[in-house]
Amino acid sequence: MSKVAVITGVEGQDGSYLKELLDAKGYSVRGVDREDGDVTDREFVRALVKETKPDEFYNLASIATVARPWDKPLETIASTGLAPLYMLEAIKEFSPRTRFFQASSAEMYGAVTESPQGEHTPFRPQNLYGIGKLMAHNLLEAYRRDQKLFAVSGILFNHESPRRREEFVTRKITNTFAKIKKSEAEELVVGNVNAKRDWTHAKDTVRAMWMSLQAEKSDSYVIASGAVHTVREFIEAAAKVIGMTLTWEGEAEGEVARDEGGKVRARVSPEFYRPVETHVRQGDISKIQRELTWRPEISFENLVREMVESDVS
Ligand code: GDP
Repeated sequence: MSKVAVITGVEGQDGSYLKELLDAKGYSVRGVDREDGDVTDREFVRALVKETKPDEFYNLASIATVARPWDKPLETIASTGLAPLYMLEAIKEFSPRTRFFQASSAEMYGAVTESPQGEHTPFRPQNLYGIGKLMAHNLLEAYRRDQKLFAVSGILFNHESPRRREEFVTRKITNTFAKIKKSEAEELVVGNVNAKRDWTHAKDTVRAMWMSLQAEKSDSYVIASGAVHTVREFIEAAAKVIGMTLTWEGEAEGEVARDEGGKVRARVSPEFYRPVETHVRQGDISKIQRELTWRPEISFENLVREMVESDVS
């Protein structure tokens, strides 16, 4: 009999990659997307668990307003914090053998006190999204400890792919350089090019999710590449894929990058600055490497290449 898995947020970047991975492994996947189920509806969640009694439950659904968490405070906490509680309660009641994966977020670290960040780094969330995610993370620990549920909290750092939405800087960069290549755009306009992020390929991320549910016991794991790059480096790498070498000049909001012919191809504009710039985020992946033998397989260069090439074609 094939294993049954539920994936919430199956229409998203991670959900779609995870579904492909599980399909290939012969799972029977019940995907829940925004259209066919509301994870903040407790009765829906109860019925879902009661009817499917899945071997594995991956909660990847989440509100899409990370950048503007004050737009919908109640909805934000309902989807990030309460929905996982409904899932844990339903699993406890109807299907205590279900292995639960919760997509936690590096956003929980907020104003970080140390870098890189590991499972024991203090969480100081600075927005409602991070607060809701931390509530769920803490709930998982409690259900694991006191209710003996198998519940993994995967602390996800930025993870990207050709399926990333364009609100994220990576896809914005690769799409613009693809357009420059096709003479459909002249230049990229971005915010803080010195911002640092730990970027993993979403395919590596979902493989970590699956591996974490195959382990002997459940736990919390940082899922990241373990390396940091600046937005500037990402731009340079994307330009390189289309055969362009950039040279930077000027400072702060006057900074531009020119191609070999002297044409401006990237420009900094305060329009895209963040009111509060999150601190450097870098994941300490020693625990997941040691305990699950997972490591990212797709390098930064290959991630950028795949994204640009996909946008070109
Ligand atoms: P986040 O880590 O979830 O905020 O992911 P983003 O991809 O949106 O942003 C990553 C970093 O890129 C942040 O530090 C932003 O300040 C920086 N950044 C610089 N320019 C831009 C831009 O034009 N758009 C976005 N979204 N981020 C930018």
